Amino acid sequence: MRIVMIGSGYVGLVSGACLADFGHHVTCVDKSAAKIDALEAGQVPIFEPGLDAIIEHNRTSGRLDFSKDLASPVAEADVVFIAVGTPSRRGDGHADLSYVYAAAREIAAAVSGFTVIVTKSTVPVGTGDEIERIFRDEFPEKDIAVVSNPEFLREGAAITDFKRPDRIVIGTEEPRAVEVMREVYRPLYLNEAPLYFCERRTSELIKYAANAFLAMKITFINEIADLCEQLGADVQKVAKGIGMDKRIGDKFLHAGPGYGGSCFPKDTLALVKTAQDHDSPVRLIETTVAINDNRKRAMGRKVIAACDGNVRGKKIAILGLTFKPNTDDMRDAPSITIIQALLDGGAKVHAFDPEGMEMAKEVIGPITYGKDPYDIADGADAIVIVTEWDEFRALDFKRLKSMVRTPVVVDLRNVYPVAEVTKHGFSYFAVGKKNEK
Ligand code: NAD
Repeated sequence: MRIVMIGSGYVGLVSGACLADFGHHVTCVDKSAAKIDALEAGQVPIFEPGLDAIIEHNRTSGRLDFSKDLASPVAEADVVFIAVGTPSRRGDGHADLSYVYAAAREIAAAVSGFTVIVTKSTVPVGTGDEIERIFRDEFPEKDIAVVSNPEFLREGAAITDFKRPDRIVIGTEEPRAVEVMREVYRPLYLNEAPLYFCERRTSELIKYAANAFLAMKITFINEIADLCEQLGADVQKVAKGIGMDKRIGDKFLHAGPGYGGSCFPKDTLALVKTAQDHDSPVRLIETTVAINDNRKRAMGRKVIAACDGNVRGKKIAILGLTFKPNTDDMRDAPSITIIQALLDGGAKVHAFDPEGMEMAKEVIGPITYGKDPYDIADGADAIVIVTEWDEFRALDFKRLKSMVRTPVVVDLRNVYPVAEVTKHGFSYFAVGKKNEK
């Protein structure tokens, strides 16, 4: 089967490489010449564990190639996936579909023979209808089917998620497209991949509803964490206690600095906007968005409070910048807001992140980057864990104590048991637990 992936970012590149690994022939297309040049030179433009090996293997086997030009691979394709970005539209928070529609128009001009056009990008309900209309209006003679197939992979675990998904949602009622999509994912059947077919509009909404629910779950435990701090309870134990109930489940119950990343913030907002437009507001999600927005800045205030209410002229060491470990993605990372709050308070911020510093330089203001946690902790007035990278999980607190100016640790990810930090003479401020001074 010949597959073309339009957009070679976090989703397109992973999906393209994995589909090639299943035995399909895949061409990954991107408008960014820098990305395609890098890929053709054997480099991987994003950090995703395991991706470089899969790309290399499939490239040398001749199943995976890259192109800046969309027309010639699309003309040969059985299936064309659209995996371009759908960021928040500036000004109103709706999903910006300009990249999707631009890609659709280019695809429409290029397809020949029956071709299945699949939206893998997260797109609002009705986007598939609009793509179909573009084809009908501009190229009525073309034989196509437009399918929704939202992606649920998580950055940092993207390969496993793509290859062993909980479900593959496919929105189409066109029998030929059903057959083609079965064929695309057939290699997964060995792992009993659960294909879930439904109508296109339903499929589009499933993606938003799933992300909104997960964002709500995180926000719920974050509010319970705040309450724990007031009541002297421990949020990790509360989360465990409720998560053992199978109706609730133990995932997405880790209290922290608020959700961020390239999906939850924009997708929750887009769902809110779609719902308002249809006079059917989703108030739980409106509230979730507002709580989460406030929380990130509040985490900056939490750090300031841990520094006796004043960070002016103080050195704050930030461990972790990306919105989660195992990615270099800085989009909407809570660190951006937290650091801004500290800079506004007059702090000197020093930061280290294993993979995110290059991207951080484009989105974070005047801070100093270090080469490891110890480098930035030297002379610090507080050490703040913002992202729970593995290499921050076994810090040498004895060594850190000998270097810092003031022994304060603010752990926004609850990485450590309290005693492990306090026994070295640090004050320890976690999330949803009693502060230990
Ligand atoms: P990304 O920004 O990393 O990648 C998008 C790529 O598309 C960019 O490289 C861009 O240059 C390219 N592009 C834009 N217009 C193009 C065109 N006309 N032709 C060719 N290339 C074009 O974005 P991403 O994180 O991969 O997300 C893509 C979509 O998948 C979004 O809708 C997102 O919501 C959704 N999604 C993302 C994730 C995730 O974890 N990142 C997970 C599930 C779903």
